[in-house]
Amino acid sequence: MTNAAADLVYLDYAATTPVDPRVLETMLRLQGVQGDFGNPSAMHRAGWRSHAHVELAAERLGALLGTSADRLVWTSGATESNNLAIIGAARHRRHRGRHLVTMLTEHKAVTDVFRALQREGFEVSWLRPGPNGVLDLGTLQAAMRADTQLVSIMHVNNETGVWQDIAKIGECCHARGALLHVDAAQSVGKLPLALAELSVDLMSMTAHKLYGPKGIGALYVAKRPDLHLEPLLFGGGQQQRLRPGTLPVPLIAGFGHAAAIAADCMLSDLAQLRTLRDRLWAGISDLPGIRLNGDLAMSYPGLLNVSVADVEGESLLLALEPLCVATGSACNAQNQEPSYVLRALGLSDAAAQGAIRFSIGRPTTRDEIDFAIRQYRHAVQVLRTMSPDVAA
Ligand SMILES: *Cc1c(COP(=O)(O)O)cnc(C)c1O
Repeated sequence: MTNAAADLVYLDYAATTPVDPRVLETMLRLQGVQGDFGNPSAMHRAGWRSHAHVELAAERLGALLGTSADRLVWTSGATESNNLAIIGAARHRRHRGRHLVTMLTEHKAVTDVFRALQREGFEVSWLRPGPNGVLDLGTLQAAMRADTQLVSIMHVNNETGVWQDIAKIGECCHARGALLHVDAAQSVGKLPLALAELSVDLMSMTAHKLYGPKGIGALYVAKRPDLHLEPLLFGGGQQQRLRPGTLPVPLIAGFGHAAAIAADCMLSDLAQLRTLRDRLWAGISDLPGIRLNGDLAMSYPGLLNVSVADVEGESLLLALEPLCVATGSACNAQNQEPSYVLRALGLSDAAAQGAIRFSIGRPTTRDEIDFAIRQYRHAVQVLRTMSPDVAA
């Protein structure tokens, strides 16, 4: 895979990835009059052909996740999957109890869903992880009640890269009769997952974080007799009425192809990312006042979140140009609020504001990491000499 345009150095793969050229080719073949453009629900040859592409994609994604193809529902992305899983399960089980559990460090596509459910009368416990971002099992156990219906804990955090032990968390939920939903947008295709062996009931994912197209995602729904979701959308009978609408075959086929490629190169990707991440950290960790936000031993190696004292995030981002990285307010580019994820880890507003998230991807080269090291060191030094605290 070739790198991004030469006028920028892209280290923001946690926000989105470029589409693998092999995946692009697959998608293009399904769009035009020469391709299999038929409606996969149609009862004719063109429809059957399209349907076969959808089936292949589900098999490929199922193989990546260690589950069967019939457990997957196509959605528009992890945001929609989170909404369908959390709202769908909570509403269906509301007669049994109204207590739900999640974490303060979840993505907005989870926290805002729980806030909407609070307005519907559900009660939500918001768990705080330790200072390294990892949730203590005791904290979860203490929050569980007899009326707890659903727990939602993400796998890999999108700001820090820290992962949670979803195997143990799942056992804890099932022991107390609650369902577990996992937002795995940052880990599917990147870390080994074997859903058949995990006590996970619902799992959200999105193709554009694993070199697939934007606008397509999936929700895994475990096979268990007491698990039902109330749909959010009403329309045709597609996908057992759980998520109706004409299936976007080119996007689905692209997702499936990206999943197959991820399964093939996951282990070599991980080794490569670890080497580059360690090189990056070794190149900046001696800067005075630098802090690693997260935990290197317990995180996905494609992500490194750091902050330095006395340096303001926005100025830092500008000084880092043409490096494309995220600040401590990644998904809130419009508002200047410091990251609520880093605040939950105990960082001060100032430290959270000066945080930078480097995210490394499959196309990243050693030269790009070395460029990032030089650029970051230079930017921090320049801004430090300009900072009033230092000058005074
Ligand atoms: C990217 C991301 C999402 C949202 O995915 P979309 O494709 O934008 O819907 C949700 N959760 C996490 C953890 C993510 O990283």
